[in-house]
Amino acid sequence: MLRIGLTGGIGSGKSTVAALLTTRGVPVIDTDEIAHRLTEPGQAAFDEIVRVFGEEILDSNHRIDRNRLRERVFENAAERQRLEAILHPRIREVIREKLAALHAPYCVVVVPLLIESGFTDLVDRVLVVDAPEAAQIQRTAARSGLTEPEIRKILSAQATRAQRLQKADDVIENNADRRHLEKEVERLHQWYLSLATNVKRN
Ligand code: ADP
Repeated sequence: MLRIGLTGGIGSGKSTVAALLTTRGVPVIDTDEIAHRLTEPGQAAFDEIVRVFGEEILDSNHRIDRNRLRERVFENAAERQRLEAILHPRIREVIREKLAALHAPYCVVVVPLLIESGFTDLVDRVLVVDAPEAAQIQRTAARSGLTEPEIRKILSAQATRAQRLQKADDVIENNADRRHLEKEVERLHQWYLSLATNVKRN
């Protein structure tokens, strides 16, 4: 089975592309969802995160306050590395299990920080959704209510568009309307189906 890693900066259109592929019957593995599940109370990473970061990262319901944790690691590289050391091996394990259970010509693994995390070894090709920064900011602001300075701060902590494009095998330019994006997704879908016939299936 051909494995595609789907990535892109915040607001670039990853989730929209993933949803369009899902409607075409393509299995999609979402690493954000995996990370969320792993950090629920009682799950593998919960106790370790609380041990390392302290009870102050818990909310009143004794769940990990994601915003607080994100803020904590945002400007502290050492703490970010500690969090990644807890989460990344476990996320990789879940991705591997999910991949092993799939039977399809190709599948997609959505990894927002694919380039930054070094998860590229889990996939055969990297698909980058690329959008102009102004569009990323405008779309993220409309969706999340974050302010422009907040979004710029997140953007500056992510890989640059150039760094991402350098690692891309395939690119979707999400620089126009949704109709254009749908056409791009269909083009890639057909391309992956044709590539998959040349890849040994598992
Ligand atoms: P990501 O998952 O990369 O953060 P999303 O797919 O959630 O990005 O897209 C961010 C927001 O922009 C969503 O509300 C989405 O519906 C919207 N969006 C994505 N692509 C387009 C487009 N081409 N035109 C208009 N809105 C778009």
